[in-house]
Parts: sequence; C-alpha cells; structure tokens
Amino acid sequence: MQRARLAVSRRARYLSGSAGSGAQDDTASKGTRMSSEDGQPLAHLGRIIPVASGKGGVGKSTVSVNLAIALAGRGHRVGIVDADLYGPSIPGMLGIDTAKPPAMTPEKKVIPATAHGVSVISMAMLTGDDKPAVLRGPMVTKYLQMFLTAVEWGTLDYLILDLPPGTGDTQLTLAQSFPMSGAVVVTTPQNVSLKITRRGIRMFEEVKIPILGIVENMSSFACPSCGTVTEVFSKGGGRRLSEDLAIPYLGSIPLDPAVVDSGDSGAPLVTTHPDSATAQAYGALADALDGAARGDQGLPVPFEWDWASGSGAPARGSGSGADTPVAMTQADARTLRIAWGDGQEQDIDVRDLRLACACAGCRDEDTGAPLLDPARVPLEVAPVTIWSVGNYGIGVAFSDGHGTGIYPYAKLRALAAAESEDV
Ligand code: ADP
Repeated sequence: MQRARLAVSRRARYLSGSAGSGAQDDTASKGTRMSSEDGQPLAHLGRIIPVASGKGGVGKSTVSVNLAIALAGRGHRVGIVDADLYGPSIPGMLGIDTAKPPAMTPEKKVIPATAHGVSVISMAMLTGDDKPAVLRGPMVTKYLQMFLTAVEWGTLDYLILDLPPGTGDTQLTLAQSFPMSGAVVVTTPQNVSLKITRRGIRMFEEVKIPILGIVENMSSFACPSCGTVTEVFSKGGGRRLSEDLAIPYLGSIPLDPAVVDSGDSGAPLVTTHPDSATAQAYGALADALDGAARGDQGLPVPFEWDWASGSGAPARGSGSGADTPVAMTQADARTLRIAWGDGQEQDIDVRDLRLACACAGCRDEDTGAPLLDPARVPLEVAPVTIWSVGNYGIGVAFSDGHGTGIYPYAKLRALAAAESEDV
C-alpha cells in the first residue's frame, strides 16, 4: 500500500503538468463544464459508455475488454478508462506493461497504452502495479477527470468506462461530470446479483443516464471440449429483469473456462478464440450496443454552443419523454426554444433563464428562497455559452459573468409552469 501511495505521488508529480495539480478537487461533483482543460469540448471522445455492476466478480471488466476489442474489430475507434482506481485490472487483462510510466505529448497530455487495437488508461499505469491506490475521495474525482480530459485519446467512436462495482462516489462523479451516452449493466443469473443490479440501475436513473441494456454474464456453461452449452443457473434472470424494468436486453455470455485463461494471459478471448461461441456472444453484444447507442436518447451530447454565433449548437436528437429534449434552438436572440419528447415546445426568455438560476449563489440552499436581486440583473443579459451537463441538463455562462448554475431538464420543463419571478 505504502509503495503504491508513494508511486502515485511520484508519477502524479510527473503528470501534474497535464492533470493540473492545483485543480479544484471537487469541481466534477459540482458539474464542471464539459470541456477539456484546453477549452476543447469532449466531442472527440465519442460515445462515453460506463460498464457497471452492482457487485464485484460478475465479470464486468472482462465484458468491458472483450466488448471494446469486439467494437474495435468492427472498425470503431475505441478507448477504455479503467475507472476502478482502487482495483485496476484492465492492464493485466490486456497484457499492458505497467512498469514504465506513460509517455507524454509535448502539450503534456498522457499518451494512453494501446493493446489489441484499443487505447487504455489505468491507475495501474500510474502506480506501476495493480495494487490498490490509497486515495482520498477528492483525489478520485481529480484522477477520473484527468483520465478523460488530460489523456491524448485522439478521436474516438467509443470510450468504455470500466466502473468499480457498486453505486459509490466514482459512479456519481463520472455521471455528473461527463456526458454519458448510456450505461451497460452486467449481472449474473443468480438472484442476489439481480437484486443488487436493480439498485445500480436506479442510481443511473437518478442521474439521468439512460441504461443501454443489461448483459447477463456466465449465464450458461460452454463445455470446452464438446462446445455444448448447458444452463447451470436459473435461466433467463437477466432477461426477466430487463422486462420488469423495461430496459433493453443486450445479450448473454456463457460461462467459459477459456475466458479465465485468456484474461489471465493478457490476451482476451475475442482475440485468442475468435471463432468460439463465446467470442461470437461478445460480438453480438458489440452489435447490440452499437445499435442501442445510436438510439432514442435525447440530444446528442456533448455540445458546447456559442449563443452569439450559433456554432456548436446541439444537433436534433430523438426521444419520447416529457423531460427529454429532442431539439434546442434559438427562436430569436433572446429566446431559447426547447422541443420535448412528448411533442411540447417551450420558449424561455433568456433573462428568465438567468433569474431561474438555482445555484448556491442565487438561491438559498436550505429554504429555496431567492438570493438574487432581479433588479441587479441587466435587462440585456444573454447566454454566452450553453453546454450539456451529463445527459440530464445544461450549464449556461451568461453575459453578466455568472456561469455556475446547472439547469436539469426536469427543472427547465417545470419553468414553463412556474410563475415568472421577473420584476
Ligand atoms: P468484475 O470486473 O465484475 O470484478 P472480472 O471481469 O474481474 O469481474 O471477472 C471475475 C472473474 O470471472 C475473472 O477471473 C474472470 O476471468 C472470470 N470471468 C468473467 N467472465 C467469465 C465468463 N464468461 N466465463 C468464465 N469466467 C469468467
């Protein structure tokens, strides 16, 4: 442990030019702008897909790596963030040498490792081993931000985030800080795993990250000698769960001893046994995910929209929910127009938007009473930039210099009904 901690600080110093050692520790949890430190939006990261599970040992990391390689094999540019800072396992599964610290670009960005056609960043590459890192909560946020914003990913189609098990801080930090396309939830057929999975799914729902689907791992046994697939657990639990919760079922992966051997040897099964039934199951999963990720998820994120010039305005999305925006446009220079999934259209005066800011500076956090004096907000106040916050809202920087408020979509929708507080 001690060695890991020392190693973290040594390499963190080495990386501090890009990670920003003086960066605020808790910016992510407050909903940072969706851009990298050099001001570039994160659109180059493509679809950001967290892979989650309610508990450890269900094969989530194994699914992440095989899925990533299967997507890369279909011509996609794919990266993996090993977001399990306390128990990084991805480099071991991909045969990545963690003895040397990662190289840096002249711009002080970390160059990810490349293995089996995918780019990878992991805490193990910073600590030099796969022992758990000793990190306080705020440092977790800082490293995760660095993994997304200070790594030279190039242009990706998919960035797979292998989350630690459970529903803790790491999951929330990522959910609130970065625009996720949707989560993949891995479960095993046993009841206890399914119960815990429900809890994980609820957490994603609360932070408005759509669930792209459920994967049932080790759902049946693939005999290594004859190839026969036998049901060893109660059948169809993952599918039942997906039906109960109205969440897509992405597929099932058999329990296959070759998966373990391949994982241990640093060459995942889809590369070592590409023709096996199990590799085909991972391939089918990649296809199902690719289909689901292109689907009905509201506005495409991330976006960073310059209000005056119109550049970076969000493209039209699709969806059917009352709180799901499908279009966000400028009706005129002073009116933000939102079309919602249920067909309603809402025009919001941009000064009303400023007055509705619910940040701690504008509204009392305990009582909800307004702290902002409307008389002090210029009549001509207008947005400078509007950017996506995760999948659940927008942030707005205004011409009066204010830019700390987050507007969740549900709150924007409720604005239509609320009495204007303007004076
Ligand atoms: P998690 O990330 O959920 O903790 P891992 O991916 O580390 O789980 O997998 C836990 C163990 O289960 C590993 O030894 C892995 O090789 C094994 N495993 C994962 N998926 C399968 C599978 N489909 N068949 C057999 N073993 C598997």
